[in-house]
Amino acid sequence: MKSLIIGAGHGGSDSGAVGNGFIERDLAIEFRNLLVSDLKKLSVNCIVDPDSNKLADSLPYFKKYFKPDSINVDIHWNAGPPAATGTEVLINTQSTPFEKQLGGKIAEAIATILNIKNRGLKTELQSARGSLGWMKQPGRNYIIEMCFISNKTDMEKYMGKKPELAKAIANILFEAVKQ
Ligand SMILES: [Zn+2]
Repeated sequence: MKSLIIGAGHGGSDSGAVGNGFIERDLAIEFRNLLVSDLKKLSVNCIVDPDSNKLADSLPYFKKYFKPDSINVDIHWNAGPPAATGTEVLINTQSTPFEKQLGGKIAEAIATILNIKNRGLKTELQSARGSLGWMKQPGRNYIIEMCFISNKTDMEKYMGKKPELAKAIANILFEAVKQ
């Protein structure tokens, strides 16, 4: 079984993006907790930063766990103009069919369950920030940009569906760690 690292994209003094009364850090920590608890029910142990509610940067903690075959998932929200909508998943620039398939399944599940646009798979260079520490680690690196914190409808849909979404992504990751 491959090891599975799950990060909440932001923590502590790093709040991430804010919008519509939401704070990205709090959303990411909450979803991380839902996901890890659903994975536990499937007997999948995740590597989670024990102090991630407080740590502004969890990468130094995770460093020793990143392995060439580990699956490393960091949870984020996108932000943009009010009309920007949809989900996207970042994958490694040099990615294998396995990596593309897993990223595609995650993006598809989010788009279907939330009924929002699937913006598809992107690489680090195609992301808003261009360079991301998480994407430079050994292993199969994924950054989930769940939806737009700046979009009211995206957030309403997310709030109504987060337990279902966590369960669906847990199932996808469960299948992937076994492969
Ligand atoms: Zn973020």
